[in-house]
Amino acid sequence: MNKLLQARIAHFTAAKEAREKGIYPYFRPISSAQDTEVIIDGKRVLMFGSNSYLGLTNHPRIKEASQKAIEKYGTGCAGSRFLNGTLDIHIELENRIAAFTRKPAALIFSTGFQVNLGVMSSLTGRNDYLILDEYDHASIYDGTRLSFSRVIKYAHNDMNDLARRLSTLPEESIKIIAVDGIFSMEGDIAKLPEIVALAGQYGATIVVDDAHSLGVIGHKGAGTASHFNLDDKVDIITGTFSKSLASLGGFVASDADTIDYLKHQARSLIFSASMTPASAASVIAALDILETEPQHMEQLWNNTRYALSLLRGEGFDVGETESPIIPIYVRDNEKTFMVTSLLQQQGIFVNPVVSPAVPSQASLLRFSLMATHTFSQIEEAIEKLALTFRQVGVLKIKERIR
Ligand code: PMP
Repeated sequence: MNKLLQARIAHFTAAKEAREKGIYPYFRPISSAQDTEVIIDGKRVLMFGSNSYLGLTNHPRIKEASQKAIEKYGTGCAGSRFLNGTLDIHIELENRIAAFTRKPAALIFSTGFQVNLGVMSSLTGRNDYLILDEYDHASIYDGTRLSFSRVIKYAHNDMNDLARRLSTLPEESIKIIAVDGIFSMEGDIAKLPEIVALAGQYGATIVVDDAHSLGVIGHKGAGTASHFNLDDKVDIITGTFSKSLASLGGFVASDADTIDYLKHQARSLIFSASMTPASAASVIAALDILETEPQHMEQLWNNTRYALSLLRGEGFDVGETESPIIPIYVRDNEKTFMVTSLLQQQGIFVNPVVSPAVPSQASLLRFSLMATHTFSQIEEAIEKLALTFRQVGVLKIKERIR
């Protein structure tokens, strides 16, 4: 290998250092279904790091639908949607997503990441503007890097900053404002009413990424636009099937012409194989459950409210969250790893979020709820979190309230 490249690779020491200290928290192999309890290293661990918000990944009806699809269609599509890889079940899923998001049309991709790559890279040209919240997901940012447009970043959920930046842009350019509906690490919701007003004032198009909002907010879990009653004001909705919808893949929903344009322009769709039949069938089954069984979403919110009241009562700093994604701020990279590893030893799984994903002083544990958690699982996790934070010297950040 080239020596400069070898040096560049050797220069990356963060993972090695964490392994040497015994606090490396990534790629933990799970040998069970993604449920509220998982098996790691032969031990039962309570899962508080999953995006399966409705707890449907192990649901018998969804598993059965996916097994039936394998029987009928086999295991893979061996090609792109564009050529040999379109199945009738893909079209059925697109129709279901269009109806669910209340848009005229939808297009499914193999992952949510690929959706944002395709959407953000193909709508605008050299003299146009892509305007992003600083905390938007990496896939939105990476998509803009594949475009030739100018990228403008505004401070997180700061509507004055967004207004100021929009006011400087030329009238005749295309402007797209892209936001996460629920922000993936902070758990707060995009200020859609204000964004809609500003987009109207400055002639901008709105893209909302509902990856974390589907199944969580809006009518029967239809997402952020529905949550704010602004369905007809959001031009483009993107999303993933890998969280509440218990599968793998993603979609974009919009008007028929925009979807037809993306079908022929989005390279991450055209040059990549389509969703497996099992994945598509499991999303359809998950949508059936969302539409007919509101109790999952209700339970998710009961759990969220309960966890938040316990965490706030213990004095944890949980930021501005408004969702089942709860950031528990540690504000130090190494302590975040240490707390994650100590909790894992006590049978609690949480995700560490450290720099460069967030600045070191904003490093946090991402604690996420599922509809299937019990109150006693939540109590056990928070009790262990409180003990561990005190042991590592973090839980003096706010006085215990109670
Ligand atoms: N958007 C957001 C906001 C996400 O959090 C994620 C996944 N973490 C994605 C898009 C990508 O989705 P997928 O997992 O389907 O690639």
